[in-house]
Amino acid sequence: MSTALGNHILVEFMNCEPSIMNDVSAIERDMVAAAQKAGATVINSTFHHFSPYGVSGVVVIQESHLAIHTWPEYGYAAVDLFTCGEMNAWISFDHLKECFGAKSYSALELKRGSVNLLQRNDFDITSMRQKAAEWRNPDFYTRNVWFTDKDDEQALSLRFTGEVLFDVQSPFQRVRILESYKYGKMLALDDMVMTTEKDEFHYHEMISHPALFSLPSAKNVLIIGGGDGGTAREVLRHKNIEQVTMVEIDGEVIEACKIHLPKIAAEFDNPRLDLIVGDGIEFLKKASPNSYDLIIVDGSDPVGPAEGLFSVEFYTNCYKALKSNGILVAQGESPKFNEKAFTELNLTLQTIFGLDKAPISLFFVPTYPTGMWSFQYGIKGNITVNEVKNKSEIQDFVAKEKLRYYNEAIHTNTFALPNFVKELVRKK
Ligand code: SAM
Repeated sequence: MSTALGNHILVEFMNCEPSIMNDVSAIERDMVAAAQKAGATVINSTFHHFSPYGVSGVVVIQESHLAIHTWPEYGYAAVDLFTCGEMNAWISFDHLKECFGAKSYSALELKRGSVNLLQRNDFDITSMRQKAAEWRNPDFYTRNVWFTDKDDEQALSLRFTGEVLFDVQSPFQRVRILESYKYGKMLALDDMVMTTEKDEFHYHEMISHPALFSLPSAKNVLIIGGGDGGTAREVLRHKNIEQVTMVEIDGEVIEACKIHLPKIAAEFDNPRLDLIVGDGIEFLKKASPNSYDLIIVDGSDPVGPAEGLFSVEFYTNCYKALKSNGILVAQGESPKFNEKAFTELNLTLQTIFGLDKAPISLFFVPTYPTGMWSFQYGIKGNITVNEVKNKSEIQDFVAKEKLRYYNEAIHTNTFALPNFVKELVRKK
């Protein structure tokens, strides 16, 4: 009879595969399997992926717990195997060593809770047992695998099933499709939420319809980015649009969304769409002047391939490519997340298009950090975007297309800015 209540193996796995050390789904799967292989009954698993990297998680078992914290940048994982009863945690150790490809390791085994040093309290075990029986259901355990999109001060976490439906490291970024409990399937690029099934319409309706109803005679639209297809879908609802050219740098994004987000990627075969896989920055450098009525920059955050989509040079080229009466709409980050990028972008647009020609539209996207997001405009020529000139036409369109975010009231209100935002971008 063991004289200790628990057995604790403290493990240092070293020289592990960095990509594995950063893969929350693979680690959760391996940790649960490590417990089950040693005959444990899994009660719950909770795992967090931190951006830019690192995973922490715990598998609660009837026989105590297995826990892990990883430092992918060192190829290192600190693992705790705490068990009680007859369970042999070295079986879990062997399984994890293999799964993580640990080329070196150290392990320290400790006995925890020496009964000789402890005083047993007597209490009514039957009531305890009865309660425990209600809780225990061996066939079912709750999985809490969280995807976290964060900067240094704030984060947004979404619980997902732990299953990764699509996972490709493209030349530009890591492209993943995950299934979240609350917002359905979601596209993540690197560790940033791009779009989800349940709230994509917030973003895609607001990036397109305010501009298109401010340009009733528009015919030629250019979309930079937008690889999930949602922006093209909304633009193509407007029958007056004759040609949409879409330049998306990453073919893997298009592929992932065609397969897993077909309702968003619904119009990729539309004859009015010219889909180009290429760099939008290079495309604008070569674009003919006065070509487009509307340019929509549906790019990701200002890192990696999208960094240049926030530059003065890029927006100067956009200005040149717009017709004399044209509109630019750009994914503008948030006044509460990436404030610096948000502010600098608007000051850039004010410089290129004119002080009062760079309005900002604020709207809500629940799955973006802070939920408060923006589209930033550049107006070329004599156009106003913050006034509704064709109310009944908008109402008919909204009803016919069954839009769920955009309407004539939202159209005007979205350009109303809180004072702190006006101060940020020096607007009256
Ligand atoms: N809604 C998202 C957001 O607010 O971050 C944007 C979604 S959309 C998927 C962003 C797309 O921009 C991605 O597919 C990415 O590959 C694409 N992209 C990034 N940089 C690009 C570039 N230089 N040229 C063309 N597409 C680019």
